[in-house]
Amino acid sequence: MIVSDRLRGSITRGVGYFFPPVCVFCSAGVDVEADRAEGLPDIRICRHCLSSLPLRRTNRLSCLSNPYPDDPIPDFSVISAFFYEDPIPSAILSLKFGDATYFVRALSYFLSQAVRRDGATFDCIIPVPLAAKRLRERGYNQAERIARDLSEDLSIPLVPSFLERTRETRQQSSVTANSKRAENVRGAFSVPADVSVSGLSILLVDDILTTGHTLHEAALALFRAGAGSVTGAAVSSGRLREQGGRALR
Ligand SMILES: [Zn+2]
Repeated sequence: MIVSDRLRGSITRGVGYFFPPVCVFCSAGVDVEADRAEGLPDIRICRHCLSSLPLRRTNRLSCLSNPYPDDPIPDFSVISAFFYEDPIPSAILSLKFGDATYFVRALSYFLSQAVRRDGATFDCIIPVPLAAKRLRERGYNQAERIARDLSEDLSIPLVPSFLERTRETRQQSSVTANSKRAENVRGAFSVPADVSVSGLSILLVDDILTTGHTLHEAALALFRAGAGSVTGAAVSSGRLREQGGRALR
């Protein structure tokens, strides 16, 4: 066991020698040992990028950018880590459409921190499921990758099978009108018949919060199945503080 651990350490150092760690945003070298010595997390972000990230420090957001009066879940809110400003948009787009899964650790670390700061506790974490066709094309669900990291960081069980897409929908980013976005995802999610979410406090994870219709519809399916509480979590949102932001406890 000792020998194999030593061997593993040598291999890791060897890989580090040939492929020195670089910043996921700007490709500058990252001094992992120095970062570790200072208690910084190993998330492959250089000091310069780290200091200029557009972090939201104190906001939980109302889910819908355009709330409507008869909303069955008007209090549903979303914890978001970043404003949608450089370098976040290109990171999320690369993660979504460019196979750049190396962004997952860096982005989900800050979302974990935001959830921790928020202080609410959860029984389980559920990612917003991807349509089957899109999952086949992409090979992975970026929301599930982020949710998996959150689950490890926060020691909360990950249960992707508790929510499913019941029909294909168009990519929300290709639907421009707010009302059409609501229509596009209406009834798109359900809790499988053999699953009980009754009374559970759920953290529902997606990559980005735009108009909020996708997260809102997914949360509605969980509430209708008897969930005790649902809180959203999204890496980033372009929403300004004035648009539904409220201070954390
Ligand atoms: Zn950098």
